[in-house]
Amino acid sequence: MNKIFSILIVLLIVSCSGSKKKEQKSAEKKASELNIYSHRHYDSDKKAFKMFEDETGIKVNVVKAGADELISRMEMEGENSPADLLITVDAAKIQRAKDKGLLQPVVIPTNNQDGFYDTDGFWYALTYRARVIVFDKEKVNPEEIKNYADIADAKWKKKLLIRSSTSGYNQSLLAYLINKDGKEVATKWAKGVVENMAREPKGGDRDQIKAIAAGLGDIAVVNTYYLGLLLNSENPEEVKVGEAVGVIFPNQEDKGTHINISGIAIPKNAPNLENAKKFIQFMTGEKIQKFYASNSFEYPVNKNVSPDSTVAEWGSFKAADLEFAKKPQLNKEAIAIFENVGWL
Ligand code: FE
Repeated sequence: MNKIFSILIVLLIVSCSGSKKKEQKSAEKKASELNIYSHRHYDSDKKAFKMFEDETGIKVNVVKAGADELISRMEMEGENSPADLLITVDAAKIQRAKDKGLLQPVVIPTNNQDGFYDTDGFWYALTYRARVIVFDKEKVNPEEIKNYADIADAKWKKKLLIRSSTSGYNQSLLAYLINKDGKEVATKWAKGVVENMAREPKGGDRDQIKAIAAGLGDIAVVNTYYLGLLLNSENPEEVKVGEAVGVIFPNQEDKGTHINISGIAIPKNAPNLENAKKFIQFMTGEKIQKFYASNSFEYPVNKNVSPDSTVAEWGSFKAADLEFAKKPQLNKEAIAIFENVGWL
């Protein structure tokens, strides 16, 4: 009997130390991981995340989806959400996550320019981009277009290329216009844009530039980095497409050109909080900011980093503020206007 009892004790000790080891192992594993929910869809991210892994030894896991989907997923997962970071390509979406109470404030000593972080610490911008008007250099005198309003003028009938209204980029552009000029003016503008469309909206921003090069239209609305990507493509055909257009920064004598950010935030229940903070610090630091400037051709947010030479050639410009993102009703109004004017 005594013998059996001692064997049981030994077994108990062995199994205890085993489970302790297991616990340690899972704690170590946790400490070396980072789970990112990201709406970004750019090749350069893979390399940037790898640079973070190499420098810190922290393994990065990425779930890619649209911001709305990621936000719903975080809501559904609640306290058990594995997300350590949420990355969006739109200020309004990251603000929505904040408004829903899904994020936590953190103090990270970045070198971000003013306006490119949430003053309450709920998000930090990773990059920014401008939504500009590009034009066929052979056909259009850029002096003819000063403002977004100008592309709704009847003189551009059947000459304008712009993607679908389901794009968050267009929703935020219209939210910016509603905020600036009111609903009525914005509705008139959207109607004018639809009337001027050279074709039914299709494809992404790069496809609009390609359509100009193919002679399907004269002007288009696109995010700056898509033109940067074309001009630096390994495919000479794409470079040619990029070279066919010039860039106009609208509303310089008004509120400034509409810009948007790609932003990073830490969810309220992030299991790897310290790793998440390290990531934001790393991504807004000079090394990655320079990397993005010359690989994704977005504008850097770090004060000490300049845009790539391709981007700098288009000139400096007055950027609008991100006020539109703080008013969630603007996004809803924008979607209603798109529906109302038949912008597919
Ligand atoms: Fe994009």
